[in-house]
Amino acid sequence: MSSSSASTKLTHPNISNGWFSESGAMWPGQSMNIEVNQILHVEKSKFQDVLVFESKTYGNVLVLDGVIQVTERDEFSYQEMITHPALFSHPNPERVLVIGGGDGGVLREVIKHPQVKEAVLCDIDEAVIRLSKKYLPGMSISYEDPKVSVHIGDGFDFLQNKKDYFDVIITDSSDPVGPAESLYQSRYYELMRDALREGGIVSTQGECQWLHLSLIKEVLTFARELFPVAEYAYTTIPTYPSGQIGFILCSKNKETNFKEPLRSVSAEQELKLFKYYNSDIHRASFVLPNFTRQALAAKPAPKTA
Ligand code: SAM
Repeated sequence: MSSSSASTKLTHPNISNGWFSESGAMWPGQSMNIEVNQILHVEKSKFQDVLVFESKTYGNVLVLDGVIQVTERDEFSYQEMITHPALFSHPNPERVLVIGGGDGGVLREVIKHPQVKEAVLCDIDEAVIRLSKKYLPGMSISYEDPKVSVHIGDGFDFLQNKKDYFDVIITDSSDPVGPAESLYQSRYYELMRDALREGGIVSTQGECQWLHLSLIKEVLTFARELFPVAEYAYTTIPTYPSGQIGFILCSKNKETNFKEPLRSVSAEQELKLFKYYNSDIHRASFVLPNFTRQALAAKPAPKTA
């Protein structure tokens, strides 16, 4: 069932009195509110509840199952920081895979690297891609690039028969509640590792150090069993819970030092290409506060039987 605002006055359970209020099981006791100008689209897709609204101060906003995915005003922070620390840590990222990322923003960042010859996107929900093309043109512009190919399906399944092929895999997924749950498991990281060729790098949506330290610790622990190098980095973004989100970066190359860009472009190019990323903030994004350092350094809790 879908409807757009052209014909009827749309409503949605997360919107009342002209305000959107986020609902997220993963951040109890808090909720981001954004003032709404108009609801543009509501739809129950095969996988999730999809809402698009025009906000008063954040541009168009995409919401899945009540959770903010992207806003036009601040998406660049997330899209650039899940992409460029990974790609600038790889010597020659020719083949890049994006799992999730249906809004197209990560793809837009990936194809800024001239080394990229092939950018593949696999998202489980065609509705997100379709609606992004209609309501998020600044992100979905990437779908027009000849280097880009799109596959509709579950990323977990897509990787089953991919071996030794990609240079970088970026998992730009929603949270581990709903269709993205399988993308936060050890088996999925194993699939990504096997789909990478030598020296391959992974960058995934790694949740927030203010809210999800135990999940980050769990993922980093199994990632470090599968890859010689795995690190957590983060960025600031006003509309994500607690104003931050992190990334888990892994490399098959034991020499990879994520904290020092392997490649870079001139400061002038950085200003031209990016609104958030630069090589200084690349380095800084891996500098963690004491509470996070201690939590991530602590021995993993014994697995409960
Ligand atoms: N930047 C956002 C964040 O950090 O939460 C994510 C944005 S993007 C819209 C999330 C995408 O993940 C959605 O398009 C959703 O359809 C997709 N997705 C969820 N589970 C998936 C799966 N198992 N395989 C592929 N795509 C999936």
